[in-house]
Amino acid sequence: MSENAPNRETHGFQAEVKQLLQLMIHSMYSNKEVFLRELVSNASDALDTLRFQAVADDSLFENDPDLAIWIEADADNRTVSITDNGIGMNRDEVIDRIGTIAKSGTRAFLDSLSGDQKKDAHLIGQFGVGFYSSFIVADRVTVTTRKAGEQTGIRWESDGGGEYTLEEVAKPGRGTEVTLHLREGEDEFLEPARLRHLIERYSDHIAFPIRMRADKSDEETEKPGEWEQVNRGAPLWARPKSDISEDEYKAFYKHVGHDFDDPLTWTHNKVEGSQEYTSLLYIPKRAPFDMFDPQRQSHGVKLYVQRVFIMDDAEQLMPRYLRFVRGIIDSNDLPLNVSRELLQSNRVIDRIRAGSVKKLLGLLEDMAEKRPEDYDAFWSEFGPVLKEGVVEDSDNRDTIAALIRASSTHDDDAAQKVSLSDYVARMQPGQEKIYYHTAESLAAAKNSPHLEVFRKKGIEVLLLTDRVDEWVMAHLTEFEGKAFQSVAKGALDLGEAETDEEKAEQEKLENESRHLLERLKAALGETVGEVRVTHRLTDSPACLVADEAGLSAHLERILKEAGQSIPMGSKAHLEVNPTHPLVKRMDGETDDDRFGEWAHLLHEQAVLAEGGELDDPATFVRRMNQMLLSLSGDGGNRDGAAA
Ligand code: ADP
Ligand code: MG
Repeated sequence: MSENAPNRETHGFQAEVKQLLQLMIHSMYSNKEVFLRELVSNASDALDTLRFQAVADDSLFENDPDLAIWIEADADNRTVSITDNGIGMNRDEVIDRIGTIAKSGTRAFLDSLSGDQKKDAHLIGQFGVGFYSSFIVADRVTVTTRKAGEQTGIRWESDGGGEYTLEEVAKPGRGTEVTLHLREGEDEFLEPARLRHLIERYSDHIAFPIRMRADKSDEETEKPGEWEQVNRGAPLWARPKSDISEDEYKAFYKHVGHDFDDPLTWTHNKVEGSQEYTSLLYIPKRAPFDMFDPQRQSHGVKLYVQRVFIMDDAEQLMPRYLRFVRGIIDSNDLPLNVSRELLQSNRVIDRIRAGSVKKLLGLLEDMAEKRPEDYDAFWSEFGPVLKEGVVEDSDNRDTIAALIRASSTHDDDAAQKVSLSDYVARMQPGQEKIYYHTAESLAAAKNSPHLEVFRKKGIEVLLLTDRVDEWVMAHLTEFEGKAFQSVAKGALDLGEAETDEEKAEQEKLENESRHLLERLKAALGETVGEVRVTHRLTDSPACLVADEAGLSAHLERILKEAGQSIPMGSKAHLEVNPTHPLVKRMDGETDDDRFGEWAHLLHEQAVLAEGGELDDPATFVRRMNQMLLSLSGDGGNRDGAAA
């Protein structure tokens, strides 16, 4: 393996890899022993894959069916190696999997790092550094690997700078050997006792034997220098719950979830009877940085059949809206040769999925009740995803609705979220509907003119600001028997919350305003749908309202941004407040041109007040400036007919 070996090639890393490595080494240093756990986790995955592929083709065992992981330190050469006889990698796979950070959004991720070590360590953990964590303790890493069933081995080597080398090598045994050339000062990892301790602590749950050389100095050891198993070597989930410690559950999560953080919570169940399966499902603390990236390669729920790994991220096991769940499901009823296609329409899978969804929703309900702070943390990470379940999973719609948390006008601190049950319990006497408002941001929602009458009457309004909310609310028609009503849609009917007196007053106002409304509609033409007297406003002069079945202005903006065409006939209606001084003043305007300017200004400010964008902002500014100038020109006469 001299530098000029004939088949040795040098490759450059993606620009991002080098940068990520530097950051990782700095920010993860206080946690440097994670490398061992990560490499063992990869070895275990490779063994799982081999065992699965050998179900269809047992020649892949190459007469070596004893699947295991070997760990050995070499004090003379100052190396630690982690070896497995798993699936291995061929040349292209090596380039693709360890020469590349095959994650979309890596650039954006790097840009988001702050330079603050603690925060960055957390982010890098979320990103998942896996194999690269070797470079925390090693200044050179060699990977020698041969794919099961193939002839040529390949050696990858890098010092974590900008390049790596590749060369073909002879490798009799299949699988992968990762050798770490330790950095100066990392000699603690040459001590077998230290390595053994780390394995016991973090990798005991690995379902394959992990072997180390028996310690020569250990007097109880009968065969010093021979390989001996140092972990329990049985699948964690198959053990009785009472036998498994919290730490063991957490360590297993890091392996199965490819996460550096502890999980938020988990549920472990053995189902027996007509169908037998075990599930161990975790909810992470944090969403991966690319959770909403459709190209994300997610680590979801792994499927096992009778302890044999079958596939990663078996989508059929979890509905989309629970795609953040990690863990395993081990079925006793499926055949070992089950394929993805077969899972598509499989009764066994359907029942496992339904059962698992029930368990997970139960886990969330329980957390919401008993650990509300944890639940809030969960909601702020995964709420927008879980909400999709309202649309996707009509069987569990009520349960999911009860899990929703939303900002509301109940609390001045609108960041404080409420549940729908809280809302219903606080409804005013005579109030029949659950009112909500959707907007881009909490500030826009809170200050929207649409809320004015609700504030005045002390009626709570939910403030919904997630992208999915419009879509979710289109499917959520009622909760605990109460219908939902957008405050920005349809004719407002406050039911019994409005007194007869108020209703009479309103009617009178409408009659008196006929002429004004007609003039406004004539001036605005097709810019708006109808022009009508509002019920909603107390302080603002005007607002826009969609039809009951129409698109809210908010949704219209979302569609526009997404480049979608807006269905015809969904023009918003302008509602005006005839008691507002500005509107009164307009009503007295005799000059039709000036009235027209007023009318447009009224419409434009209604658009702006709800966070919308004007089609023609420059004209708005010109119009407003003209009005301001003319006002100062009329000698401060502000309360009545204009000159
Ligand atoms: P992850 O395990 O989260 O996919 P890693 O950075 O730990 O990310 O590993 C990257 C990829 O390299 C793995 O997905 C796997 O395809 C490959 N790999 C790493 N170690 C091994 C190994 N011992 N045997 C086979 N493939 C491996
Ligand atoms: Mg890994």
